[in-house]
Amino acid sequence: MNLQDVLNRGNLGKSRKTKIIATIGPASRDEAMIEKLIKTGVNVFRLNFSHGTHDEHLENLNRIRKISSNLNIDVAILQDLAGPKIRITPVDDTKVLLKDGEVVRLALSSGQISNNELIYVEGVDPTKSVKSKERVFLADGIIELVVESVSKTEVSCKIIKGGKLRSRIGISFPDSEIDLPAATEKDLIDFDWALKNEIDFVALSFVNSKKDILTLKDRMKDASFKPGIIAKIERKVALQNIKELVQVSDGLMVARGDLGLELLPEQVPLVQRELIELANHAGIPVIVATQMLSSMVTAIRPTRAEVSDVANAVMAGADAVMLSEESAIGDHPIKCVEFLDRIAKESERSFAFEEYRFRLRDADRESVPDAIAYAACAAAVKVRAQALICCTETGNSARLLAKYRPQQPLYGAAVKDAGRRKMCLFWGVTPIKYPPTKSHYDEIDAALSAVKEREGLGAGSLAVVTSGLAVGKPGSTSVIEIRAIS
Ligand code: PGA
Ligand code: MN
Repeated sequence: MNLQDVLNRGNLGKSRKTKIIATIGPASRDEAMIEKLIKTGVNVFRLNFSHGTHDEHLENLNRIRKISSNLNIDVAILQDLAGPKIRITPVDDTKVLLKDGEVVRLALSSGQISNNELIYVEGVDPTKSVKSKERVFLADGIIELVVESVSKTEVSCKIIKGGKLRSRIGISFPDSEIDLPAATEKDLIDFDWALKNEIDFVALSFVNSKKDILTLKDRMKDASFKPGIIAKIERKVALQNIKELVQVSDGLMVARGDLGLELLPEQVPLVQRELIELANHAGIPVIVATQMLSSMVTAIRPTRAEVSDVANAVMAGADAVMLSEESAIGDHPIKCVEFLDRIAKESERSFAFEEYRFRLRDADRESVPDAIAYAACAAAVKVRAQALICCTETGNSARLLAKYRPQQPLYGAAVKDAGRRKMCLFWGVTPIKYPPTKSHYDEIDAALSAVKEREGLGAGSLAVVTSGLAVGKPGSTSVIEIRAIS
């Protein structure tokens, strides 16, 4: 693409390949907002289990499912498990301001309310964890303290950079050694909630190694509904174990907030690029998260730096970009989604589609569905197909097609809601509903008419369709047909 094309917005695609995730929260949980968010382009809603009760999450979940079904637009749900993130207790909202140069004390919580003189820490006793001169960060490093002295019950800190405390914000000790396993008691209880409520994806925070992911996989082995498990990469040790994590996880999240505290901020961009590349190569979705449009928590327009950041994530091959505070507690959730949508579409015009097809063709030499996916994408280029259509039970075959990053519109036809919802996170896949059929001939017909009905494919154009001889059986994709549209 050259500079002249940048100015020519006539060929801006109407559909977006990169998926948008929005965190639900006080600013976005009412029905009118959820409806607007879906219509504006949210593909996945994140329920943040660092906050809220099961009843509140269930209410949000039911609202999202009801509105999605009324609108006839599929959306997925992502449960974000808190993990062993260390947090402060709820804050007395009359005493929130930490002033530069003043002193604040930290203590282990046994249920007390925090304020700007004494901050209570949940689960970790700061007097046993930190030493003099070590740094303490609050709210992803927006607030910085330095330890001055440690007594038996309290740690006294100087406020290097102050700010406003908020209830249950994260507190981290980047210079101190604190050893924590990823899935806590609370996480496991929350995870059972996800299994019961058929949540599509579950992200686990502060993952260390594959053991953390396998703990969840083991717990769900007898469950009738199996969520995809996403490893949130936010610890140094997870980077050391990244190869095994990619093998056992159903997706990665580049959790840049905590990652930027565990590493140096300037190390995060390269780590982000590497994680995207590893996930792309493995054919699992990768989410770029945190501070994507931070300034829009209050502003109505993103900074140019934020726009570049989102564009870079899209061009690097992220499956999804995510809003956190921006949509959970910000002033302009809808505007944020509009901007993500616009930035993604613009950036996708110069996406390296060709490169992906070549780069990834040797990625998997084992699986038949993967070979079918690769061949279907190649065929779509050869015959200048107007659509790629994938008949799928679980969404898995569509994920494999997405791996080759086809430029053509890609539809994942699935009978079951759960299959369609999974595809909401996969790059470029538009889920589409079609009726159950008996043979793969009928299945291809049914998928074609479903896509035609929804998208009005032009007569005479070609569609590449993948299917399996054993209709309805997961993992059986083995057929490609090129059909003329009548
Ligand atoms: P969190 O995860 O918002 O749950 O902390 C994302 C991150 O750390 O970036
Ligand atoms: Mn985090």
